Amino acid sequence: MNYISTRNKEIKVSAAQAIAQGISKDGGLFVPESIPVLSTADFAALQKMSYIERAAFVLKQFLTDFTDEEIKYCVEGAYIGTFDNNEPAPVKNIGGNANILELWHGPTCAFKDLALQLLPYLLTTSAKKVSEGKQTVILVATSGDTGKAALEGFCDVENTKIMVFYPNDGVSAMQKLQMDTQKGDNVFVSAINGNFDDAQTGVKNIFTDNAVAEILSKANMQFSSANSINWGRLAPQIIYYISAYCELLNNGTDLSDGFNVVVPTGNFGNILAAYYAKQMGAPINKLICASNANNVLTDFINTGVYDRNRKFFTTISPSMDILISSNLERMLFELCGRNDKTVAALQKDLSENGKYTVSNEVALSFKDIFYGGCCDDDMTKATINKTFKDNKYLCDTHTAVAVNVYNDYVSKTGDDRPTVIASTASPYKFANSVLEGLGEALEDNEFENVEKLSAVSGVEIPSPIDALRNAIPRFNNVCEKQDMAKVVINNLGL
Ligand SMILES: *Cc1c(COP(=O)(O)O)cnc(C)c1O
Repeated sequence: MNYISTRNKEIKVSAAQAIAQGISKDGGLFVPESIPVLSTADFAALQKMSYIERAAFVLKQFLTDFTDEEIKYCVEGAYIGTFDNNEPAPVKNIGGNANILELWHGPTCAFKDLALQLLPYLLTTSAKKVSEGKQTVILVATSGDTGKAALEGFCDVENTKIMVFYPNDGVSAMQKLQMDTQKGDNVFVSAINGNFDDAQTGVKNIFTDNAVAEILSKANMQFSSANSINWGRLAPQIIYYISAYCELLNNGTDLSDGFNVVVPTGNFGNILAAYYAKQMGAPINKLICASNANNVLTDFINTGVYDRNRKFFTTISPSMDILISSNLERMLFELCGRNDKTVAALQKDLSENGKYTVSNEVALSFKDIFYGGCCDDDMTKATINKTFKDNKYLCDTHTAVAVNVYNDYVSKTGDDRPTVIASTASPYKFANSVLEGLGEALEDNEFENVEKLSAVSGVEIPSPIDALRNAIPRFNNVCEKQDMAKVVINNLGL
């Protein structure tokens, strides 16, 4: 199967090339030429499989230029021994028709582990096929979760180096500690004096700087991206929605009317993966897109107008503080009848005016497939409280946004069919806000809060967080945003 650019269907590459390259040269995103559809027999077989077997089965549909051995090597490397109980994506019923898909049992306690444990294997296997011998340098700008998950994923992976930049005052204390204590011989971490957008712009500038590319090329190195613009990060996310469907079937859930999926959304990567799972044949009814106060997607789904010209809010669900949802471009491509010209024009509007409007027809199909809802920090905290009291379930701040929008959806529409709510982070990554949600006073430092949360909730502290208690930071770099390229070159010894 080939991959095409959302902005120019004439550009066709193999899966390996799409993954090694990350983004198409015309600025478009790579999408599969067609979405594979699974048969009833396929789903019956998947139902009996382990997560790793399901992962191999799903990936095989998309990575047709990988051998069975390569796929097995990738999924086993990614998922054996890295997640609690070797269960990367357990489904837990919390009462009635609400089921939580827990995606935070990996090494960094956020859902990004599901993709970023696998991506290094996919990337190095792809690079062997298409760019022989070159060392890959992964550059990441992060507002917290992606950086740590990418560091863990790429730590000591042969023939790769990874460099992460985060805004000095824009990540949680736990996120900062997680990154600054990262082990490995091929990793580098630096804070920048600036916000997340500065870090992101700095990294993008390095990617497109020909002089820097030249220096790397002479040293037989090339840059790549670990962001969700890379197909190698999206494909792993489709697996857990297919797996969640199998789990519901195995639990005896009545799925005669299908099921709904709720996703706390930022860059639109996670919910897009659920859409692909639906297209592959999982009987997903509504895709419920939950946002925090940065509700650009809610407005878009409700009006057909995407407008990023608005106030940016810093919230207690920081991984969703985003005004440009990159992966929406792939969804637009699907709902504009895969018309590359239309997508290119809309993206041009977005970069020039920060805004675009889709046709009535496209707006209607968005509304047909998605429901968009949002809630602010107070409502997020109230939901943490209510879900803990009513359902005995402790949510992190991002998951709480999803639960809030789900409750709202059910009361507005009366549609209470079985639902899968994606839980994207452990509550211990955001212990302060979760404690406040429970109505508890805060202690003096992060680990006292972690202890208190455990005492109040009875929920076990995840071992990767517990292990940070006495960890000593290795990195304490801070650089100016205009010096990022220099820092990268120096660190590579070039
Ligand atoms: C990244 C992240 C999100 C948003 O996911 P997208 O794929 O960007 O929509 C939600 N919750 C948490 C905890 C995250 O780390």
